Amino acid sequence: MKILLQFPEGLKQKALEYAKRLEKEGNEVFVSASPTYGACDLAIDEAKKIGAEKLVHYGHAEFQHVDFNVEYVFYSIDAPMEILERSLEALTPFNTIGIVTTIQHIHQIEKVKEFYEKAGKKVLIGKPYGFAKHKGQILGCDIGSAASIDSAVDAHVYFGGGMFHPLGALLNTKKPFLVVEPFQNTIEFIDKYRETYRKKSRGKIAAALEANKFGILVSTKNGQYNMGLAKILKERIEKKGLKAAILVSNNVDFGSLDNMLEFDAFVNTACPRISVDDVDRTRKPLLSANELMESLEIREMH
Ligand code: SF4
Repeated sequence: MKILLQFPEGLKQKALEYAKRLEKEGNEVFVSASPTYGACDLAIDEAKKIGAEKLVHYGHAEFQHVDFNVEYVFYSIDAPMEILERSLEALTPFNTIGIVTTIQHIHQIEKVKEFYEKAGKKVLIGKPYGFAKHKGQILGCDIGSAASIDSAVDAHVYFGGGMFHPLGALLNTKKPFLVVEPFQNTIEFIDKYRETYRKKSRGKIAAALEANKFGILVSTKNGQYNMGLAKILKERIEKKGLKAAILVSNNVDFGSLDNMLEFDAFVNTACPRISVDDVDRTRKPLLSANELMESLEIREMH
């Protein structure tokens, strides 16, 4: 069978090994070298272009149904759990805790739960909104597993690598948020970042009040494409007597945005994390749809 393999950045180092293994089984194998951000970003166009009958996507669970033969290959990583013992001191004031993790460690979540329960905690595991597939799993754009239990817990615990995933959950919850990072061996409450990001958001809204020309970003990635929202936003902007154009790309390239000198501000309809994590990568304000709507409402009041 002719197949295209797609790996997230952290797994690209394994591409040759996997390709050779599948070739030995009699397949004709190709590897996508494009950046890969998640299962929202399937290389279906590339697979179709080379005539592949199947796309094998490593490291992420299914994000949404697509009209192509895609096999998702789970890649779990055993995170060392000794660090949990040390996290107990930080969790002393909290009786009920919620735990979340990423797809790579979801197989360990029951063991993490058991550990905290043995230590006398009541442990809750929430449900994702739908893009994430497992209880307790969070994605950058699906923090339901934390948000759905926010009112019922005294604190949240994220067990896993990196800050990308817990940051999204932090910004959509109110309770103390502890990151237990087994690879860096660090334990840290990250609550202070809520205010940092709130300030950034208020700054963007204020800057957008001065803007007259808006570029609305639409990504062609399967799970990020939202032309419907982009058209609604364009209409809202134009109703205010301002100018807007819809800007279409697969990846958002910040250098290209900076070359679009006519625009005073950009509005993101692609991966929601772009207007949170990447705001400092362009010279112009980079707003979410909600931030744009807020700035338009403020204009109305003046
Ligand atoms: S956070 Fe962004 S990159 Fe990650 S799965 Fe969601 S849409 Fe895709």
